[in-house]
Amino acid sequence: LVSRKKQAQDTVIEINGVRIGGGQPVIIAGPCSVETREQMDTVGAGLQMQGIKLLRGGAYKPRTSPYDFQGLGKKGLELIRQTADKYGMAVISEIVSPSDIEMSLDYVDVIQIGARNMQNFELLKEAGNVRKPVLLKRGMSATIEELLFAAEYIVSRGNERVILCERGIRTYEKATRNTLDISAVPILKQESHLPVIVDITHSTGRKDIMFPIAKAALAVGADGLIVEVHPEPSVALSDAKQQMDIPEFNRFMKGLQESGYLQ
Ligand code: PEP
Ligand code: MN
Repeated sequence: LVSRKKQAQDTVIEINGVRIGGGQPVIIAGPCSVETREQMDTVGAGLQMQGIKLLRGGAYKPRTSPYDFQGLGKKGLELIRQTADKYGMAVISEIVSPSDIEMSLDYVDVIQIGARNMQNFELLKEAGNVRKPVLLKRGMSATIEELLFAAEYIVSRGNERVILCERGIRTYEKATRNTLDISAVPILKQESHLPVIVDITHSTGRKDIMFPIAKAALAVGADGLIVEVHPEPSVALSDAKQQMDIPEFNRFMKGLQESGYLQ
């Protein structure tokens, strides 16, 4: 069902008046984790100035260590919803448990399924049973084919609005947090009609190369980018090293506009 052979034209997913797929690239921005009302309000105001309509932020955080910040849970969903409503944005937030999918419908406009859960088949089935767009991230050790099968789990249950996300894979290279598989973008676009976006934050883990990587992703046909933005990255409760602050994000957006990658 996700194959180009089944559907020749690009799937376009409309969220909050923004069209993902087959046209202008979109920017999804926001902090790694939802932390406080003030943090969300500051970031919301900053992103609104750049015309951002899609706000991300994790309430359920799949952390490597059980001793790290695990997210605010439902309270975090409430906070991101309130911020998004205040600034006229849609909410994209990760859900990690199949039993939370139904509850999340009151808070999110797009359900994110994270890299660590790309093959959590019960979660995929539950996401397939609802009628909300799903942002499906490639597993860190998943092949392109496995990503497409994971998407198939969702679409085959009747939820046709799936956005694929390349977020870097595990390799021996240590210079970046993950290795961005730039080839995955045109391959996914060829094999599937679903929109494809690139997470430039988690793939690189390095702010110093995010701008050229963003241009590369858009040049190979990505339908959008995910960028983590935090009002004060150094004190962030997760991913403190890799999030842009608001002035950095402003410069980033200006750079993409000046080089013609964004309107
Ligand atoms: C995220 O986007 O918040 C995240 C945890 O990313 P990933 O699942 O790609 O590691
Ligand atoms: Mn993060």
